[in-house]
Amino acid sequence: MKDKEHISLPEAEIIVAGGRGLGDKAGFEKICYGLAGSVGAKVGGSRAAVEAGWIGPKYQVGQTGVTVAPRVYFALGISGAVQHLVGIRGSDTIIAVNNDPNAPIFYECSYGIVGDVFKIVPLLTEQLKKRLTGKNVGLTGQVNSREEISFA
Ligand SMILES: Cc1cc2nc3c(=O)[nH]c(=O)nc-3n(C[C@H](O)[C@H](O)[C@H](O)COP(=O)(O)OP(=O)(O)OC[C@H]3O[C@@H](n4cnc5c(N)ncnc54)[C@H](O)[C@@H]3O)c2cc1C
Repeated sequence: MKDKEHISLPEAEIIVAGGRGLGDKAGFEKICYGLAGSVGAKVGGSRAAVEAGWIGPKYQVGQTGVTVAPRVYFALGISGAVQHLVGIRGSDTIIAVNNDPNAPIFYECSYGIVGDVFKIVPLLTEQLKKRLTGKNVGLTGQVNSREEISFA
């Protein structure tokens, strides 16, 4: 079995992806890696995030990036342009956080949270840390049960 570091984005069971809405590289890293660390996820980005230099091109999700099919895909500050959506439609569950209630991502996601990523995601990260502490959830393919990573 591959260890966490060697699992590529298309193989990942949980992905935290950030977009332009994260503002700058520091915001992207704080929000994405903070949440990813608490749920054992890999981090990806929209093309806007890649073009801004916040994450490397091999982590770009979408039409001109990689196609992913995780159990859970977090789209943080990502509008949901069609070129991004084509890369994530194989995801079981898409959870979006965006401060624009009309963002296209809300028409595609399983769960949508309208709000500021910088307020919502730290709260989400804290709650998930509490719920998942001691549980074997992560990228090693050892997620105990689907229910344990159900955020409903
Ligand atoms: C030929 C072609 C190929 C392309 N290939 C890809 C591809 O592979 N992958 C890809 O991703 N794109 C691709 N694109 C680009 C795509 O069209 C979009 O421009 C891109 O996906 C937008 O990235 P984004 O969602 O991060 O940024 P934006 O569209 O700018 O969206 C940012 C979102 O963040 C929200 N936001 C802002 N501040 C906050 C906040 N504080 N809290 C919460 N939300 C906030 C905004 O409401 C907005 O919805 C391609 C385009 C073309 C023409």
